[in-house]
This record gives sequence, C-alpha cells and structure tokens, in this order.
Amino acid sequence: MNRVGVIGGGQLAWMMAEAARKLDLTLVVQTPEESDPAVSVAQETLFARVNDASATEVLSTAVDVITFENEFVDLDALAKIQTATFRPSLSALAPLLDKYTQRSFLKTHNLPTPNFWLLGEREVTFPIVLKTRRLGYDGQGTFIIRDAATWETTLEKLQSIPIVIEEFIPFDRELAVMVARSSSGEIAIYPIVETQQEAQVCRRVIAPAEVSESVKKEIDRIAKTLLEKLNVIGVYGIELFLTQDDRVLVNEIAPRTHNSGHYTIEACETSQFEQQLRAVSDLPLGSAALTCAGALMVNLLGFEIAESEYLEQRNAIAQLPKTFVHWYGKSQSRPGRKLGHVTVLLDDAPNLRDSALKIASTIEQIWYRQTS
Ligand code: ADP
Repeated sequence: MNRVGVIGGGQLAWMMAEAARKLDLTLVVQTPEESDPAVSVAQETLFARVNDASATEVLSTAVDVITFENEFVDLDALAKIQTATFRPSLSALAPLLDKYTQRSFLKTHNLPTPNFWLLGEREVTFPIVLKTRRLGYDGQGTFIIRDAATWETTLEKLQSIPIVIEEFIPFDRELAVMVARSSSGEIAIYPIVETQQEAQVCRRVIAPAEVSESVKKEIDRIAKTLLEKLNVIGVYGIELFLTQDDRVLVNEIAPRTHNSGHYTIEACETSQFEQQLRAVSDLPLGSAALTCAGALMVNLLGFEIAESEYLEQRNAIAQLPKTFVHWYGKSQSRPGRKLGHVTVLLDDAPNLRDSALKIASTIEQIWYRQTS
C-alpha cells in the first residue's frame, strides 16, 4: 500500500503530505482547483470535483487505496467502482453523510445524542436547532433559532432542502476526540480536547480538556463502540457536548481527520495525519500520547474579502514562544474561511486552560487587529 489516493485537496490533504513523506508514501489527490492547498504538495493530482465518481474510478487505477479528506461524495456511484479499495469503507461512511441518519445510527447503538426529529413530527418550542441534512460544515447549514418569526423565515429560505430538527443543548462545554482504528482492529484514542466555537465555527482548541475520570471513560466507550460498529479503518473525529451535570452527548462524527486534531502535529507522538496514513496503508498505529503538558490551537479565520498573505500578522504570531504557524496558501480570504492555524505548546501550569485562553487572546488580537 504505497500509493494512497485522497478524495479532496484542501488543508487536511495538505497536512497529510508531510506525514506521507515521512512514511515514504505517494499521495494522489482528487480535487477540482489548481489553487487547492494540497495540489502543491501531492505527487500527482487528478483535477475533478470530490463527488465525481468517474474521476475516482480513474484514481483507483493509479493507487493501492483511497481515503478521504472530504466526505461530500456520491456513495451510490462510488459503490459501483470495482477497482477501488476505500478506507474507511463506504459502509463506514454511509450512516454519517446525512445528519438525520447519523443521529439515527447513534440512537440505534444506544450512544447518547440530542433528541432529533423531522419537520412536522413534533411541536416546535424555542430555542431549537435546525440543520440541513447534508453538506453542512463550519456551521453552514446549522441554525440556532430562538423565536417563531426566525423559524418561519429560515424555513422559507431553505425551501425544499431536507432538514433535521434537534433539541437545543445548553452545554457547559464542547469537547472532541480523534480516534484511529487499523485493519487489525487496533484502536488509538487521542487526548480529549475542549473546542470553542463562535457563530458555530471552531475558533480554538485546548488539549487536554479538563474533564472528570467518568467523562473520560464514557468518551472512550463512545469512541470504541462507534469505530467498532462501523468497522472503521482510518481516523475519525467525534464532536461532543458536555452538560453541566457531566453528561456527554455526541454532536457530530467526522469520518476523517478534523480541525480539532490539528494540535497533534506538534503535540503528540503521532499526528492525526500520519495516523490516518498508517491505518489505511496497513502500518501499525503510532502512539496517540501528548509529548508535552498541553497545547492550544487557534484557527486563523478570514475576516474580510481580500487577496492577502497576511505576512505581517503571521510573522508577529510566529515570534511567540513555542508557537507554530500553519498557512494553507489559499489565495482568497473571506469571512469565516479557514486560512491557517496556530499551535502553541503549553508548559505544565496549575491552570492550563486559563493560560491557554490568555495566549489565544494574544494571538487573536494580532490576527484580527484590522477589524478590532
Ligand atoms: P457543522 O456540521 O456545520 O460543523 P454542527 O452540527 O457541528 O455543524 O454545529 C456547529 C455548532 O453549532 C456546534 O459546534 C455547536 O456550537 C452548535 N450546535 C449544534 N447543534 C447544537 C445543539 N443541538 N444544541 C446547541 N448547540 C448546537
């Protein structure tokens, strides 16, 4: 398994390239645009949309195994390709690509998740959460609705797009965990992290999260059950809500590497990208342990429509101690777009979370100064 095909050529595939070099693997990426981040680092690129299954059929003849950095694929069309080995398999993706079937899958397997239903099945009380069933990311397609007027206008705007409705969880914190499973069934679970969202977009991640032993155990159980039930080969990200009374609910499962695992590049024995490549190419999994007391990850989100390299801000952030700036090389900036991220390694401190949040605020002041 030396040649790995990757569906999607965004920043996740871009970050896989360094791990591929380390493992001596060749990456062939399927992505539509010349300007997509991974094009400059992949050994070969097949220029096509991620849901173009005929292009994936061509890709399958050029590689030993195909994995995903983007799950917005056409599963039915992919299932007809005889020449491809997908890892994770299509059946490990099938319940997850639609938010309604994903929640149904969790419920079937007794994994805790917010209550959910289809339009018209229950009376609506506010606040409530409405989500488009497919193709949602970075909060696109997620609407937290607090009154009847907004409910009506949102439904009108969405017209015939299929939606799922779910109870609003007044969570205490949001958590996430990356998990890997190999073809032999070996499982590696990364530290649980705290994620902080603003306007439904991830702004920062703190590793490890300060959680009780019982929460840790419950998240371990959820992660193992999920990967085993789905027979996953690869890396999955699991987003969770933690309630005030220490209950854990699964918000969302990403069948690939995830923003909440970027800190693993500098802060863990094995990065999530190396782990995915190890799992899909039949190498033994690496250790998921932290190599330092903790880490902070801050997303560099676009805040304007512009074509800028933001060199001055990036250089200023890179001056901070134990700080690593990753710039995805996207030519267009627009509000909310993920342009890069910063990881800071943290020293042991009595209150790791407080010191992480202070550093995050310094980074964000430098990054967003044009608007603040
Ligand atoms: P996406 O797939 O776009 O990432 P998510 O379902 O993860 O969308 O939702 C994005 C964010 O919206 C979550 O991180 C959380 O902050 C908020 N959110 C989503 N669902 C709920 C819910 N049921 N209750 C409260 N907040 C929610």
